[in-house]
Amino acid sequence: MFLWNSFLLSGISRTCNFNEQYFLTFEISVVMKSNPTRRAFIVDSTKTVLAVTVGLSASESLLASCGSSKKVAASGAAFDTGFTQEPLAYAYNSLDKAIDATTMEIHYTKHAAGYANNLRDAAKAEGVDISKPLEDVLTKISKYSVKMRNNGGGHYNHELFWKSLSPTGGGKPEGKLSAAIESSFNSFDSFKTQFSDAGKNRFGSGWAWLFLDGDKKLRIGSTPNQDNPLMDTSEIKGLPVLGLDVWEHAYYLRYQNKRADYINAWWNVVNWNYIQNRYESLI
Ligand code: MN
Repeated sequence: MFLWNSFLLSGISRTCNFNEQYFLTFEISVVMKSNPTRRAFIVDSTKTVLAVTVGLSASESLLASCGSSKKVAASGAAFDTGFTQEPLAYAYNSLDKAIDATTMEIHYTKHAAGYANNLRDAAKAEGVDISKPLEDVLTKISKYSVKMRNNGGGHYNHELFWKSLSPTGGGKPEGKLSAAIESSFNSFDSFKTQFSDAGKNRFGSGWAWLFLDGDKKLRIGSTPNQDNPLMDTSEIKGLPVLGLDVWEHAYYLRYQNKRADYINAWWNVVNWNYIQNRYESLI
């Protein structure tokens, strides 16, 4: 076992927050002075990324580092999206009751990583300041290239998608979101049916959305490709609350052509705690 004091914290590579949680990402390297041979092996092979969560009692310096780059964006300051992938908060195999490990790994490390890389390429080519929220670009996407639209949407949608899932997810929302869903869709079951239908009926690749319209009312809709309701080019416009990826790459290994079965299982891993917090920050 390695002791904590054998790790060298070599830098905070990214900070972000939502509501009462701050996620700090450290790159760590192992330093072992007693065995040079083993040290060399470990330093080469275990450099990794560790995500930790600290509460609001964290030191003022940490809070300051989180808050310094915040600004109000279209989606709400607490949910600003950067231009790089955040670490998954769970293992690839931990959503197996709905999504298999291989699909999760390929989806995160290939498809979503590709969107993030291509987005940064497009941002560089088109002079976008990547220290600002991605939402700033998406709400004016008609001014940018198709590459920016596809990969900016792809990156944003997947960052939301990963946070919307949890190994302990499923069940129903509570509080204000539960009340709003019942107000807008009569019942949670009716909401589930309408949202599922939005995913099932999206022809080809795209997303189903629960979003807030301009009156902060909950709506259900869908978008093609990697579009989303933030985009000024989208037929449905508003602030995304919950998104479901219905691209075949999200489900084909286990479900093949049976998209409806994937959607039915997906409800069992929805992270309602995150979605509730998100909704309450956006209204
Ligand atoms: Mn996807």
